[in-house]
Amino acid sequence: MRYTIPDYYFKFKCTADQCEDTCCAGWQIGIDEASEQRYRKEKGLFRRTLRKNINFHDSVFRQQPDGSCAFLREDGLCEMVLQMGEEALCRTCHYYPRHIEEFENEREITLSVSCPEVAKILMSRREPVHFLHKEDEKEETYPDYDPIFFDQLQEAREVMIQILQNRSLPASVRAVLILGLAHDMQLRFDGGSFFTCQQLYSRYQSRKAASYASEWLKSKENKARQTAYQEGHPHTTHQEGYLRHPEKDSAVAIFSYLYNLEHLRADWETVLRETESLLFKEASENDRDSYRRISKEFGAYIMTEYPDWEIQKEQLLVYFISTYFCGAVYDGHIYSKVRMAVLCVWYIEELLKARWLRNEKFLDTEEVCEIVYRFSREIEHSDQNLEAAEKIPIPFP
Ligand code: SF4
Repeated sequence: MRYTIPDYYFKFKCTADQCEDTCCAGWQIGIDEASEQRYRKEKGLFRRTLRKNINFHDSVFRQQPDGSCAFLREDGLCEMVLQMGEEALCRTCHYYPRHIEEFENEREITLSVSCPEVAKILMSRREPVHFLHKEDEKEETYPDYDPIFFDQLQEAREVMIQILQNRSLPASVRAVLILGLAHDMQLRFDGGSFFTCQQLYSRYQSRKAASYASEWLKSKENKARQTAYQEGHPHTTHQEGYLRHPEKDSAVAIFSYLYNLEHLRADWETVLRETESLLFKEASENDRDSYRRISKEFGAYIMTEYPDWEIQKEQLLVYFISTYFCGAVYDGHIYSKVRMAVLCVWYIEELLKARWLRNEKFLDTEEVCEIVYRFSREIEHSDQNLEAAEKIPIPFP
C-alpha cells in the first residue's frame, strides 16, 4: 500500500477549545459501526448521556438547536472525550480534518481546508506544495478497478500540478491550461484512445500553449467588452443592456447555482445573499457596467496591494486537483473534476471580491482563510454538493 500526504501535513495541530469555528457544529456527524457498538455497550454513568445524545436509529450524533454536536460543551470541549477518552471518538471525529481518498493499494490523505487551522497553514504558505509518499507491505484488490487507468490519471495529475506551479504564468492562464488538457484527455478517453494522452503533456507545458491560453483569455474578455458595449448602445433600452451584460450574466447565473446546493450552515445563505447584493445588485442600479468595473478594480488591487492571492489561488487549485482528480478512476469524469477545481476557486474569488467591497476595499489573509474554510465546509462536506459542483459550467463570458 502506498500512502500520500502533502508536505505540510505534520504542521497541523488542532486548537480544540481555542478554535475560531469548531468542526463540531453545522453538520450531522455519522457514526461508524465499530464506534456505534462501543457506545451501545458502554455501561458506566455516561451511558445515559450517550443514549440521550446519539440517534442510534440513524447512526448519527444528535445536534443542539444551534446545529452543534450534542456532546459539544459551552467551553468548546467534547464531553465524550472528557468522559471516555480520545479513543472513544468515532472515525469521522478521530480523523477530521484528515480526508482520505481510497484507491486500490493507495491511500491519499489530505487535510481539509474546511478546518480554519488547515486553511491558515495552506493560505500562509508561499512555497509550492509537494507530496510525500510511504509504502508498506499491505495489499488489496478492488473489483472492477482499472489500475492502469489510475496510473495514467496520477501521471496526468502530476503534469497538471507542474503547470499550476509554473509561477512565470498568471494563475488564470495556468487554470485555462489545465482545463484545456483535461478537456482533450476527456475526448481521448471517450473516443477510446486514452493511452495517447502522453502526447498532450508536453504540448500543454509548452510556451506556445501558454501564449495561446493567454490570448484566448484576452479574446474572451474583449468579446465580453464589445458585446457589453453593443448591448448598451442607445438602440438598446437600459433595461435590456443591464440584463444582457454577458460577463455579468454568466457570473450571476453560475453564482446562483450555490443557492440550489445543500446548505450545511444556517448562515451560509446570508453570505451568498450579501455577496450577490454587493457584486451584482447594489452598484448595478446606477451603473450598468458595475460588475466589470468591480472585477477590474479588484484585479488591480490584488496586483498592487495583495499579490499573495495569486499564490493562494495556486495552492487552492493544487489542493482541489490533488484531492479529487484521481477520483475519475471510478467514473471517467476527467474534465468535470478539473472544471470543479477551477470553479471552486472562482467561487472563492467572488466571495472575496464581495468581502473586499464590504471592507471598503481591503483584504488580508485572515479574511481569505475565513472565506476558504467556510466555502469548503459547504461544498466539500456534502457528497451531494460535490456531485452537483461537477456539473456546474465554468463562468466564461
Ligand atoms: S475545526 Fe480544526 S482546529 Fe477547529 S476544532 Fe476542528 S479540527 Fe480542531
